[in-house]
Amino acid sequence: MVVVAEHVGEPIIKFETGKSAGFDFGLKTFLTCSEGFSIESPEFFKQSINLVRKASKQHSRKVKGSRNHEQARLNLARKHEDIVNQRKDWFWKLAHELTDKFDVLCFETLNLKGMKRLWGRKVSDLALRDFLDILQWVAQKKGKQVVYIDPWHPSSKTCSCCGHVLSNLDLSVRRWGCPSCGSENDRDENASINIKIHAERSRSRVGISTLGLGDVRQAEPAISA
Ligand SMILES: [Zn+2]
Repeated sequence: MVVVAEHVGEPIIKFETGKSAGFDFGLKTFLTCSEGFSIESPEFFKQSINLVRKASKQHSRKVKGSRNHEQARLNLARKHEDIVNQRKDWFWKLAHELTDKFDVLCFETLNLKGMKRLWGRKVSDLALRDFLDILQWVAQKKGKQVVYIDPWHPSSKTCSCCGHVLSNLDLSVRRWGCPSCGSENDRDENASINIKIHAERSRSRVGISTLGLGDVRQAEPAISA
């Protein structure tokens, strides 16, 4: 579910913490925050996938139409449901935590197709869309703002210290030294800082009270699938 702001242009942000933050999605590390912390993907994501696999195997072994088959089918469906609920639970808690900490939360608009090509099946397991929908909803309730910036250029290979852009950065490189200013950049943290910098720049360009202008948008579908 995507909650769309009904009064775009009418600032409804409550500035409680005065803080904004940029976030970068990853696989092992679910979120890296520009403010010096990261959130690991919970272990139950992986465990639950194994549980479903096991239940699915049992289901396929039973004779079709038999009582055992039906029972295995129900078992599999229950496992699925458990996972979805567990994950949602975790997403809600995380959404509340982050909106307690920050007034403005900045993300890059994600391209799920592109990410799937790059990372494979796991992207859908992480259910990024579900999380962003929940975050959007919680933020709106609490008068906080979720901001999406267009991926204006690869946020990973731009130095967040000096703006130097690498011509190439392999996905396997987790840390890199900037040839221009010499700073050591952690790939994900650097990206999240860039996302914040870019979002803030765009906000100040269009004025902090006018939302939904320029290349910063509020409450739009986070992901183009
Ligand atoms: Zn640099």
